[in-house]
Amino acid sequence: MHDDYGLSIWGEENFTIRGDTVNVRYGKEPSLLEITRAIREQGYRGPLLLRFPHILRKQIDTLYDTFAQARKDFGYKGSFHAVFPLKVNQFPNFVHHLIEVSRERRYGLEAGSKAELIIAMAKTPMGAPITVNGFKDREMIALAFIAAKSGHNITLTIEGINELETIVEVNREFNASRPDPVTPRIGMRIRLHSSGIGIWAKSGGFGSKFGLTSTEVLEAYEILRRENLLDALGMIHFHIGSQMGEIGPLKKALREAGNIYAELKRRGAEGLNAINIGGGLAVEYSQHRPNGNRNYSIKEFANDVVFAMQEIARQKEVDEPDIYTESGRFIAAPHAVLVAPVLELFSQEYHERSLRLKERGKNPPLVEELHDLYRAIRRTNAREYLHDALDHMESLLTLFDLGYIDLEDRSNTEILVNLIVKKAIRLLENEDTGELKRLQDRIQEKYLVNFSIFQSLPDFWGLGQHFPVMPIHRLKRRPTRPASIWDITCDSDGEIPFDPDAPLLLHDVDVEEEEYFLGFFLTGAYQEVLGMRHNLFTHPTEAVVVFDEEGDYTIEGIIEAQNLMDVLEDLEYDTGLVDKALKNNIEDSPLIDEAEKQELLGKLYLYLSENSYLKTIQSLTRSEPA
Ligand SMILES: *Cc1c(COP(=O)(O)O)cnc(C)c1O
Repeated sequence: MHDDYGLSIWGEENFTIRGDTVNVRYGKEPSLLEITRAIREQGYRGPLLLRFPHILRKQIDTLYDTFAQARKDFGYKGSFHAVFPLKVNQFPNFVHHLIEVSRERRYGLEAGSKAELIIAMAKTPMGAPITVNGFKDREMIALAFIAAKSGHNITLTIEGINELETIVEVNREFNASRPDPVTPRIGMRIRLHSSGIGIWAKSGGFGSKFGLTSTEVLEAYEILRRENLLDALGMIHFHIGSQMGEIGPLKKALREAGNIYAELKRRGAEGLNAINIGGGLAVEYSQHRPNGNRNYSIKEFANDVVFAMQEIARQKEVDEPDIYTESGRFIAAPHAVLVAPVLELFSQEYHERSLRLKERGKNPPLVEELHDLYRAIRRTNAREYLHDALDHMESLLTLFDLGYIDLEDRSNTEILVNLIVKKAIRLLENEDTGELKRLQDRIQEKYLVNFSIFQSLPDFWGLGQHFPVMPIHRLKRRPTRPASIWDITCDSDGEIPFDPDAPLLLHDVDVEEEEYFLGFFLTGAYQEVLGMRHNLFTHPTEAVVVFDEEGDYTIEGIIEAQNLMDVLEDLEYDTGLVDKALKNNIEDSPLIDEAEKQELLGKLYLYLSENSYLKTIQSLTRSEPA
């Protein structure tokens, strides 16, 4: 194996390299290639999103087990609970398996909108917690009362005083004439002075969109007492922001929230028994630097939470609070892998066989010399020959501009210099110099990949978030080509450029002869629902890979990418009219006869039943679809 693409940094032992493939490190350890082929054999083409519920289970188990250990180590008396924030992934195949794998845990769901609340009310097992955050209107609050009256363990977190006033009104509507009123639990989200760091830091901090100031907390307390709702106040909530890279800000936030909890308790909020620490637990996406994205372990995280709460409870002589978390990214990110076929290498022409050298003696002397350099380059002379080649190229390009050499000479120059640079980089790979790094940039290969960055990696497009990428096979071969990745949208932002400081090297494959698949990892959080339909590329075909007790896997829940007409229908096109227009155009065309009309109609309807991703592209001579 030549390169593990940082698997030991970001892989969390979920995948492993066996022979020349990336394999799932579970059950009988099938390769991603084998799974991909099994799905493609059923006729699905284009990019594939693979879900692994066993990884979801592992993340959930890790979260619960780590907190259980921390509570045990500290002798902590409060309990531990967790909910999954639906905004991180609301897709039905995801939510279904999330609930399945966590049933014994009483894992709950968090909702931030009415539609999410409906999912939570329908899917959360009775008794498992539901938390509701974000801005709420009267209807949303009423829905929470309906959930509570249906038996759900639901907490409405108020973000402002207005919401509390609405809760008071809705409570009258639902409970005024009842002998035993039922209300949701009420939580207060506090506005932190401490805030997270990094690209998602905005959601914490004093300038945040959310939460009550200390003055508002006191005001809310008074309203609850006046309205006889103080017993319903059960939870203090904060959320520091996502992908928290350092633990420091969390510790501060815990002290802020913990002291507010204790103060309210001492003031008389007897039902108050929980702190909800929100989300923010980070995922290591880095392929090159250990601890690039997260400077703490989950154990440290859990210990800090438990320790901070215990300290404050002790100091202020109140009960240790139950701890709730709403970690989303940590739970969901690792479960999904996007596998996408490479369609083309754009500079395939830089190949020895593409040279158009004239007879010996007829080429410009500098081209002949480049050819000699290429044949004679060795480790000992590599640096010198490399410099000569770059120098010759400058001269040859000038000669071309001045009209002294022809287009074939120029083409030979480009190819030979490219070949020399590649060879020199290979020969000098143990000498890590800045010059070689810069040269990699120069000979980078553009890999055209059958997917949309806007649809499948929107956080790369919007925030520059890196996702680990690697080929899922051919790993016994040395990857030689510094790569940039191009998607199939016609937008120049649809590119993951080559980064000399975090280089991605891929294999020199001839995609006309052999398949080449790239895996994009840790894409299970946020990417799916944030994905946009730029150019009308839709959510890719998805499949769930489920392992049984023998370790064999089955492929379930395949949902094919939407077909072309369904996409138009989603945009509220009248697809009946579109269909008619296409059909009439063919039927009325003066250019074709009856038989051909039937043939064209047949083809048209076949194409309309398919999705937007590419099946073949022109340069693929073989008819193997992509
Ligand atoms: C987004 C969000 C979360 C989840 O954050 P992660 O970083 O994905 O763990 C949790 N709680 C609230 C209130 C949120 O808005």
